[in-house]
Amino acid sequence: MAGLLHGDRIGNWIDGRRVDPANGEWLESVDPSVGKAWIRVPGGDAQDVDHAVAAAKAAFSGSWRSMPATQRAGLLRAAAVEIGKHAEELATIECRDNGKPLAEAIAGDLPSVVEMMNYWAGAADKIHGETIEIGPTSHNFVRHEPLGVVGIIVPWNSPLAILAAKVGAALAAGNCVVLKPAEQAAASILTIAACFDAAGFPHGVVNVVSGLGEVVGDALVRHPDVRKIAMTGSTETARRISERAAPTLKQLAFELGGKSPNIVFADADLELAVPGASTSAVFTGGAGQTCVAGSRLLVHASIYDDFLERVERHVAMHVRLGNALDRQTTMGPIAFAAQYEKVKSYVELGRKEGAEIAFGGRFGPENFDGREEAEALAGGYFVSPTLFRGATNDMRVCREEIFGPVTCAIPFHDDDEALAIANDTHYGLAAGVWTRDLKRAHRFVRDLEAGAVWVNAYRRIHWAAPFGGYKESGYGRDSGLESLRGYQQTKTAWIDLS
Ligand code: NAD
Repeated sequence: MAGLLHGDRIGNWIDGRRVDPANGEWLESVDPSVGKAWIRVPGGDAQDVDHAVAAAKAAFSGSWRSMPATQRAGLLRAAAVEIGKHAEELATIECRDNGKPLAEAIAGDLPSVVEMMNYWAGAADKIHGETIEIGPTSHNFVRHEPLGVVGIIVPWNSPLAILAAKVGAALAAGNCVVLKPAEQAAASILTIAACFDAAGFPHGVVNVVSGLGEVVGDALVRHPDVRKIAMTGSTETARRISERAAPTLKQLAFELGGKSPNIVFADADLELAVPGASTSAVFTGGAGQTCVAGSRLLVHASIYDDFLERVERHVAMHVRLGNALDRQTTMGPIAFAAQYEKVKSYVELGRKEGAEIAFGGRFGPENFDGREEAEALAGGYFVSPTLFRGATNDMRVCREEIFGPVTCAIPFHDDDEALAIANDTHYGLAAGVWTRDLKRAHRFVRDLEAGAVWVNAYRRIHWAAPFGGYKESGYGRDSGLESLRGYQQTKTAWIDLS
């Protein structure tokens, strides 16, 4: 099977064609496992955004808007097949770009991208309106129509999986899309775009423009023909987008950051809670670069010391740091140099604030003493799994999103205190609760201020279940039928019967 990626650079995807950026500028994308550039992607600007939005607008008012929904569903199904055919190549591109372990991308991310397309194919031709009984003089009915052109902006940590949830829903609802990947990891999204056209989508329905957030992202946000921006990223960027989208009154949906509590009670099944706390989200493949990372580990004081020792043993036994493309690797590097420096600075900050490193706190080559590949990995952005003990919730390391493999363990003494600490954050994305007590589990599900609560589990995410945040973790939902409404507008029709 022919590969999708050829040569050492990949252009934008606009109107069914691979095109160079209009300004001729390219950005280098660095392989974080080795710290070297591996591909160039467009450093585009507003000209490319104008081109892509015009193509999307033309496609929308061309054949796409009037295409029977069942045909649209068939195209989404065909896209699933096309993506499935190239899954390994897409996974490899993504892992090279952002350092996620290949084994995880092949077993998790790519199969879920395929399933999301199938899920949304199933929904595309089940979009129904309603009739409303008004009285004998009027016939009233409601249509759920697409918005038109939707801009989708995604981050670098899991580009394809995050993209697929939004794109699947947007296309199923009948919109055309312009996608803006993160400048640090754009290659997998630039590549996957061709799969939609290969599956038979009319040209211009799916477009990708790569470039800096402040340039390409901003042009998309301000564009008068873009009716909605669905963005996953940081809370700071979402604030900026909100301001700049105001003049054109765009709809907005945001999936943002978190500082999620993972709460372990004394009655928890420790056989589950130890791996749950150690490998779920923070010390896994993406090296804690996941929005739902359980980065505040709240542990009942009576088991605090023992629990942290068990977590340390588990991490030592199960986490293997290494090149993302090595299938033995269970935890990859930090995705790019600036983020690596940020994580390092937070580890330093934690020490200064008075937390104590229980384990970890090693960087780069320090992690590879005695390993054969030490020389090759010396330039990589590696941080060992790091746990702070004796942390308190007022420390900045407990309040700010670090987005790296760093967890702060905070002791608590009773349920009320656990709940108060858990909710004492401006974020509200996710939370975990480990207990055998059913009443306690239900109380915490009810009272935790978070968009997702896992009981005796962590980081379960599925395309059929709504996903999104409370408070400053965002609004709007990805996944599940609920998210479809976010890509539609409602029209009420009145027919006079008098
Ligand atoms: P970021 O906010 O810096 O960038 C996200 C995207 O926004 C990128 O494509 C970027 O180019 C673009 N962007 C930046 N400035 C822009 C502007 N002015 N206008 C338009 N677009 C702009 O975030 P990041 O550092 O790439 O990603 C990490 C963040 O994403 C973390 O906060 C993490 O928690 C969050 N995240 C959330 C979820 C979720 O589902 N809730 C999932 C993954 C990551």
